[in-house]
Amino acid sequence: MDCIFCKIAAGEIPSATLYEDEDFRVILDLGPAARGHALILPKAHYADLCEIPEELAAKAMILAKKIVSAGRKALRCDGYNIVQNNGEAAGQTVFHFHIHVIPRYTGDNAGVTWTPGTLTEEDRQEITACMREALK
Ligand code: AMP
Ligand code: ZN
Repeated sequence: MDCIFCKIAAGEIPSATLYEDEDFRVILDLGPAARGHALILPKAHYADLCEIPEELAAKAMILAKKIVSAGRKALRCDGYNIVQNNGEAAGQTVFHFHIHVIPRYTGDNAGVTWTPGTLTEEDRQEITACMREALK
């Protein structure tokens, strides 16, 4: 399979690596939303959150916590966004699971946001009913 993140995670393509262990490589994003924007890449290939095993997903979030703690000291940022896109409709462009770890600086214009809509009464009832059923 021709997957760029598999090659980067395996070290076959050079990257700005911040951290590496047996399961993950953490690199700087080439198109950063903000200074220090990092990507957590599992070394094994999973397309998205549905495919990645629970245990590895849990490890990935623990690693995100570690990066956030380090970044708050090293980069002197004021906050962090954790972003994880699944599917083209959600903005995923590389179909190898990854977590964006994005430092935020007071007053920066990083566009990690949305315009709030309205939760209608109909949606509230319909969505809670179908999601509760699906989550059983
Ligand atoms: P997503 O849109 O969630 O799939 O994110 C893919 C991210 O990968 C984007 O933020 C890109 O800037 C980043 N990206 C793509 N290719 C590379 C690369 N070779 N090295 C580092 N980051 C990359
Ligand atoms: Zn891959």
